[in-house]
Amino acid sequence: MSELAGRLEALEARLTAACAKAGRPRESVRLVAVSKLHPASAIEAAHALGLRDFGENYAQELRDKARQLAHLAGLRWHAIGPVQPKNAKYVAATATLFHALESLEVARELDRRRQGPPLEVLIEVNLAQETSKAGLAPEQVKPLAEQLAGLKNVKLVGLTAMPPLVEDAEVNRPHFRALKQLAGQMGLLQLSMGTTADFEVAIEEGATLVRVGTALFGERPTPAP
Ligand SMILES: *Cc1c(COP(=O)(O)O)cnc(C)c1O
Repeated sequence: MSELAGRLEALEARLTAACAKAGRPRESVRLVAVSKLHPASAIEAAHALGLRDFGENYAQELRDKARQLAHLAGLRWHAIGPVQPKNAKYVAATATLFHALESLEVARELDRRRQGPPLEVLIEVNLAQETSKAGLAPEQVKPLAEQLAGLKNVKLVGLTAMPPLVEDAEVNRPHFRALKQLAGQMGLLQLSMGTTADFEVAIEEGATLVRVGTALFGERPTPAP
């Protein structure tokens, strides 16, 4: 068994256990394999093992990999990092789901550039109110959601949490719970929350999409300067 196959098997066992503990069917949680900074060959290997959902942070890297991997059947790209308006076209052209919407300006650009089925988007929420982190303050979420209603090619389906990286995943539980509550108030069904550090807690709190990189692909190579 390859190293990747071994890691996937271990990860799948943890996902199954977390779903069982939460009394949820395994199919209610989609694994998004975060492949940022890993080579396209890593995605090909994961695709061969049956994975179809891949998460990329950087719009240009997403554009390049989508081009390189156009031959892989059924592959779904998730754009999981905030994007600048000028790069929104790459997300509009490739992504199934955009997890990191935080401005109307970007939404308008996605709407203008999207062809085919509407791009499903999630608003990224900064629950811990860290100034250094991406995402909107909770009170800014509903106003943005209302402004999206007029856009034909962008469809709001959920919310994303990018809480602090913590040693103890329990620290993030209140953030995940608050995100679910906010999504519930807004009638949104998709919750993108949980990474390698805390996906089990996120699943207990209702995550429908978990974004896992390191547990699957190992440590990321350092980014090019
Ligand atoms: C890199 C990244 C992840 C994956 O983090 P791991 O700790 O490697 O699982 C998840 N979400 C976002 C937004 C990321 O940038």
